[in-house]
Amino acid sequence: MSTLMRATHTFTKLLSPSSRSFSLRPSASLPTRHQMSTEAENVIARLKNSGLLRSQGLIAGKWVDAHDRKTIKVCNPATGEVIVDVPCMGQKETNDAISSAYEAFYSWSKLTATERSKFLRKWYDLLIAHKEDLGQLITLEQGKPLKESLGEVSYGAGFIEFSAEEAKRIYGDIIPATLPDRRLFVLKQPVGVVGAITPWNFPLAMITRKVGPALACGCTVVIKPSELTPLTALAAAELSLQAGIPPGVVNVVMGNAADIGDALLASTQVRKITFTGSTAVGKKLMAGASGTVKRVSLELGGNAPCIVFDDADLDVAVKGAIAAKFRNSGQTCVCANRVLVQEGIYEKFANAFSKAVQNLQVGDGFTEGVAQGPLINEAAVQKVESFVKDAISKGAKVLLGGKRHSLGMTFYEPTVIGGVKSEMLLSREEVFGPVAPLLPFKTEEEAIRLANDTNAGLAAYVFTNSIQRSWRVSEALEYGLVGINEGIISTEVAPFGGVKQSGLGREGSKYGMDEYLEIKYVCLGNMNSN
Ligand code: NAP
Repeated sequence: MSTLMRATHTFTKLLSPSSRSFSLRPSASLPTRHQMSTEAENVIARLKNSGLLRSQGLIAGKWVDAHDRKTIKVCNPATGEVIVDVPCMGQKETNDAISSAYEAFYSWSKLTATERSKFLRKWYDLLIAHKEDLGQLITLEQGKPLKESLGEVSYGAGFIEFSAEEAKRIYGDIIPATLPDRRLFVLKQPVGVVGAITPWNFPLAMITRKVGPALACGCTVVIKPSELTPLTALAAAELSLQAGIPPGVVNVVMGNAADIGDALLASTQVRKITFTGSTAVGKKLMAGASGTVKRVSLELGGNAPCIVFDDADLDVAVKGAIAAKFRNSGQTCVCANRVLVQEGIYEKFANAFSKAVQNLQVGDGFTEGVAQGPLINEAAVQKVESFVKDAISKGAKVLLGGKRHSLGMTFYEPTVIGGVKSEMLLSREEVFGPVAPLLPFKTEEEAIRLANDTNAGLAAYVFTNSIQRSWRVSEALEYGLVGINEGIISTEVAPFGGVKQSGLGREGSKYGMDEYLEIKYVCLGNMNSN
């Protein structure tokens, strides 16, 4: 097996579940709407038994329906089948959840850091104990291959573990006084009630990345998961209750996004909005938060360049670019959106990369060997189609794929497009699908200029064997994260976040804690009196 084949095989293995019983190989005769697989039915039955398939919102420790009993359907994107109905909540329920979080804040923020740390540790232990259940739930409602879902559980739970540890290290300061009878202190205190709005592409990790540090600092939360993937959020919230985290500390509402968002923005009791999602919605929330001057953290869209220099190791570059591009079928904010390839290696890279992409098996995330699940919904496929059409109409060439997959539903063929130019939609915006556009470049300066020619600034990837170049280019890239010779770089111990219009603030690591803390300066005067 060549190094390249091994790289592809390793990646496919990395993304494939250990043992699944049925196969959905591409076939023109398959219907466009699939039956719920036996595997999916078994998962639902198991989750019901374990009490993790929750289908109500959580307010003040109670599982509740929408006040008008309205519901929305949560579907399996691989089959279109309805998994369960959940409440379609709005302003009223959000205000109830805010009141509950506000009340709980008083006692939760008064606990010692050690006490909060213990609750978080217990929650982490339960998330890990239910890793298989949670992983299956993620695949069921989001569609990603089971192996990736299990990886998300470990990654997502990691934020709770890290926060449990970091809770004990929220230090203040003593500042040398400027007058002899004074003492100057800096205290760090929790911001207050936090509204946490999250997207569908990481149904667990985008929540734990916010809620872990918020709770560690003494804040309480109202979570609004995406209506497309609320079930993982509800299961995680159930485990927070089982961990003994008091009622009202964690609340979950879902349904009418604009109404819920407006209620969170309007409330003077909510002191912070933390949001992960599209740049368009992030801008609305930032504007809306001005009414009550709330703190805002935003993790928004990216347009990641993946730069392959002539001096790169070809196998490393192919493996890294595939991981960076095709994780979650291209539906992550850090997915390589533009693969910039230097002229001298362009042909070799394009051939090797296309060959490796061709080996990525498409299908239901529960199927063994599958590396590419469905896209989240029809709108996502239509967006991909329109970007590919735009590129072809402007002279780009499809090297592989370029159309819907014969499995139907929202499956799309892993695609490689050559000769892409900066003015094409594929270069300008996030495609959020399994399409890798290749853009040739001549010099290092040109690569940096092309890479920075966007309003986004989240993740960037560089493949080179030159230490000097890796430093130079990392420093020149206007991005919050840079991966050198590596396609997957997120971890709970490192700061995650973007510059420019990719966001404000950082999540994860010690830096992520600051987002949930206020700094208070205390001046103790008149020290010389008794
Ligand atoms: P989205 O449409 O912005 O939705 C994100 C969340 O915002 C969902 O919970 C959504 O609710 C909610 N929402 C929508 N309109 C709202 C409003 N007016 N007020 C309050 N909340 C509102 O984004 P998405 O399509 O789910 O996610 C994909 C985007 O997220 C991509 O751009 C991706 O790059 C970005 N992302 C960024 C990061 C990062 O860390 N920087 C990580 C992951 C994803 P409903 O879903 O219920 O409508």
